[in-house]
Amino acid sequence: MPANKTYRVVIMHLDKGYAEPVSFGDTKELLGGSHLAAALYDKYGLPNEHWDHPDQPLIFAIGPLVGYFPLMSKVVCAFKSPYNDQYSESHAGGRLALAMRFANADAILFRGRAKTLSAAVIGARRLGLVDVHYLKGMDVFSTGRSLRKTIEGFSGHRSLMRIGPAGENLSAYACINVDTYRHFGRMGSGTVMGVKNLKAVMVQGDESIPLPEGKPYQTLFRDIYKQMTATHMMSKYFDLGTPQNLIPLNELKSLPWRNLQATHDSGVEGISGERFAKDLLLRNTACSGCPVGCIHIGMLREMFSDEHRFKYHQVAYDYEPIFSVGSMIGVTDASGVLSIMDEVEKVGVDVMSAGVALAWATEAFQKGIITEEQTLTPLEFGYVEGYKKAVAHLGYAPNEFYMRLANGALKAAAHYGGEDFACVLGQEMAGYATGEVFFAQQAMSFRHSHLDAGGYSYDQTHNEQDADKAIDYLIKDEQGRCVLTSMVACLFSRGVYKNDVLSKCLDSIGYPELAGKLDTIGADIQKLRWQIRFKTGYDPVQTKIPKRFLEIETWKGKIDPQYLDTLKHRYGQALMEIGRS
Ligand code: SF4
Repeated sequence: MPANKTYRVVIMHLDKGYAEPVSFGDTKELLGGSHLAAALYDKYGLPNEHWDHPDQPLIFAIGPLVGYFPLMSKVVCAFKSPYNDQYSESHAGGRLALAMRFANADAILFRGRAKTLSAAVIGARRLGLVDVHYLKGMDVFSTGRSLRKTIEGFSGHRSLMRIGPAGENLSAYACINVDTYRHFGRMGSGTVMGVKNLKAVMVQGDESIPLPEGKPYQTLFRDIYKQMTATHMMSKYFDLGTPQNLIPLNELKSLPWRNLQATHDSGVEGISGERFAKDLLLRNTACSGCPVGCIHIGMLREMFSDEHRFKYHQVAYDYEPIFSVGSMIGVTDASGVLSIMDEVEKVGVDVMSAGVALAWATEAFQKGIITEEQTLTPLEFGYVEGYKKAVAHLGYAPNEFYMRLANGALKAAAHYGGEDFACVLGQEMAGYATGEVFFAQQAMSFRHSHLDAGGYSYDQTHNEQDADKAIDYLIKDEQGRCVLTSMVACLFSRGVYKNDVLSKCLDSIGYPELAGKLDTIGADIQKLRWQIRFKTGYDPVQTKIPKRFLEIETWKGKIDPQYLDTLKHRYGQALMEIGRS
């Protein structure tokens, strides 16, 4: 099956209200996903302009294997981040990748700013912009319900991205909700949609794709499918899912509690994966093209009237949301955690950033740095009703305090005080207080994500202090992940999709040149991404790690500030060598 020679990119000019498909790049050289997105930003981005410049691109890219092999389910979103005004990425699953494949779009790129609040419709046979000014300020769920009813012919292989009030109010960490249960969560991609007056994007997969004929493709597909389903490799993701990590991390003294004032607490039983499964799990669901189904949906039952009237919500849960609006803010009741997540979903903020920012606000409140005049509700670790109100305030930003907090805990702390206990590592921390290697990694890595490299797992298996070895691991591990995120493989499938398997997959659908490059292309992608990040202003020397991270104890004992400093220094040097060469 001969592959396309170039990628098909749909460029939508929001200011002019029209879209055009263009041919971009060489499919013998460019891998898709992260690689394609970086190449597009390199061509269309404005590295020296502010993130909210109308012509900054907002990019969504998939990889060549989407639609042909299982768990090729992610989309890479690339943009200049409102959080730090530098180039960044965020990744999400759901139905979007497959819908883009059937819409014949390897990438979608938005430029300009729509004249009124709008929804873009992207299909193989349909490109357009719809005026949705009446959705202004509407929450994520109501927006979804309204658009599904009003946009004609929106059915079949389809996907719906939308933002809530947080994106419209330019919170620096507003997310994009994808098909209700998935998100482009971190670094403020929802805010970029907000500044472009883009409330929603509906991708309609209205075309079919031919599958390769002959036995080799079918046999390869069957082998991979079998490994994903018939072995134990993936069953942990289906069973308890990522929340299975709550208890082990708590035992390792690596679960952040109450704004990282502790790393272990007996209250973990109330929010463990086992507790969620026993009391709240309603069903599992999956991204399109995934036979695993790791998305766990819990049932939230809330009484809304004294006469015992109840409403039900289905809320997706994972390890990270449970950490951020559970242990990090001292909530030890699974139902309470789910009810805060539900508020987070409505306003459309990144749940990790919101929980960690509110954890800082709670400690600042306790210390008298801020008062109820600012927070508009009492904040107390474990107090669910207070947090539900505070999350809504974060989304609607009704006063100066919430506007500042919506820009990040460290930025709020720079104004009010309390920088020492703002748990920020490049952005609000992920739920892994595993030790020095992870802290250095998240603080400095490409998108300040725990998924940039496996620092959290390195900490769990290495007690020795060897900075060179640790940095070497982070750099090489990032290269491997660059390949996977360019193929847009779900990272849970990394045990199956090794380079030799990926090469066979590429070969089977007509990309033999790319298949032969996999062992070296990871370093090229890494370099390109870092070059762009440096061009947009990154300086690793400016990295700050707040004092709170030095005060904790993990399974290895007290954090060693000197080792952390050495890691920061060596990692910064290594990144500069990559990005500035
Ligand atoms: S394992 Fe989970 S996140 Fe990965 S593709 Fe499947 S459902 Fe989506």
